[in-house]
Amino acid sequence: MKTAREVLDVPALRKDFPILSQKVYGKRLVYLDNAATSQKPRPVIEAMERFYTQDCSNIHRGVHALSERATRAYEDARIKVQQFVNAPEAREIIFVRGTTEGINLVAGSFGREHVGAGDEILISEMEHHSNIVPWQILCEEKGARLRVAPINDRGELLMEEYEKLLGPRTRIVAVAHVSNALGTVNPVREIVALAHSRNIPVLIDGAQAVPHRKVDVQDLDCDFFTFSGHKMFGPTGVGVLYGKAQHLEKMPPYQGGGDMISSVTFEKTTYNKIPYKFEAGTPYIAGGYGLAAAIDYLDAIGMEAIGEYEHGLLEYATRAVSGIPGLEIIGTAKEKAGVLSFTLDGIHPHDIGTILDQEGIAIRTGHHCAQPLMDRFGIPATARASLAFYNTKEEIDQLVLGLRKVIEVFG
Ligand code: PLP
Repeated sequence: MKTAREVLDVPALRKDFPILSQKVYGKRLVYLDNAATSQKPRPVIEAMERFYTQDCSNIHRGVHALSERATRAYEDARIKVQQFVNAPEAREIIFVRGTTEGINLVAGSFGREHVGAGDEILISEMEHHSNIVPWQILCEEKGARLRVAPINDRGELLMEEYEKLLGPRTRIVAVAHVSNALGTVNPVREIVALAHSRNIPVLIDGAQAVPHRKVDVQDLDCDFFTFSGHKMFGPTGVGVLYGKAQHLEKMPPYQGGGDMISSVTFEKTTYNKIPYKFEAGTPYIAGGYGLAAAIDYLDAIGMEAIGEYEHGLLEYATRAVSGIPGLEIIGTAKEKAGVLSFTLDGIHPHDIGTILDQEGIAIRTGHHCAQPLMDRFGIPATARASLAFYNTKEEIDQLVLGLRKVIEVFG
């Protein structure tokens, strides 16, 4: 078996990320806030620069060379995304601003069409606010009810409880593939299969899945899958909603404007075909360039190798922090990816973050946009170190030293 070091040449990969070589307060930057946003390799930055220095123009309507080049690149990016998640067709890939917009699109279009008074929407207790609030807004508008599948103390979804909540009024299930606050990897294939056996469609929030593992939407058989470019080494402001064509074709538009129409008169507008029906207005074209470059970059490394390396690193980190007195890991699911959330007895997570920052170590502290989940664990916040493939055991060792310093200061 290969060791983690042999799976990836991390020192070489780190050289692709200009930001990682900087010092913060005179200390080497240790960036462990990847679940919030990941850093960008040079090819992503260069692809976006290429758009602005060579191809800058509007897409789809232009007849000149620049517009044709940019249109081709943007549509090639769509095909790259299609292949990246193994979607059957490129027209099932809708460019959005990010996961949040992807979920709002489904709630605002599919939800508005299919959810009525007394109907139910089923989510889980570990959802990000982005996968709670759009459904709450819909429930308020329609007089529907939000149901919540509970988790156990390790942060694992209770599948029997989930199954019991799949009722005759359930109109859609929406769950995270990987929890941003706990790192739990949900059994999404099983979640989808159980819902489908009752003809209930499923949306998967894939924001924390795509940077860490190979995703195959056909294998998952989910109806919708959404994710953000910026968490997978691409730009902020661009993301993806995959939807099965059978749903997308029947769904009403989410926003009105340019590009989403086929013809407009003051009396009646007919809508464009998918995916354009859902892409009103000028999109983030440079973002498309950057996202395509991020996919090429990940493909060249290989998602399996990334998953394997990070798994080893997370195990190393879990062992390394376990010896720290008063430290409790929040989220100890059997299947985890990328996230180490913890508390230190008697020390507020913000104080942990502040001391670590002075050591050049960037982590996130707070409720991680998952306040109901924090309530479930009876805590206001956690400290969260989140990993990417460019992180190293040496950086984990730095984190441990930093945490010992925190205890010295506050303990
Ligand atoms: N869902 C999960 C699980 C997340 O971790 C995040 C971001 O942290 C989001 C949704 C929202 O993503 P974005 O802010 O990119 O729309």
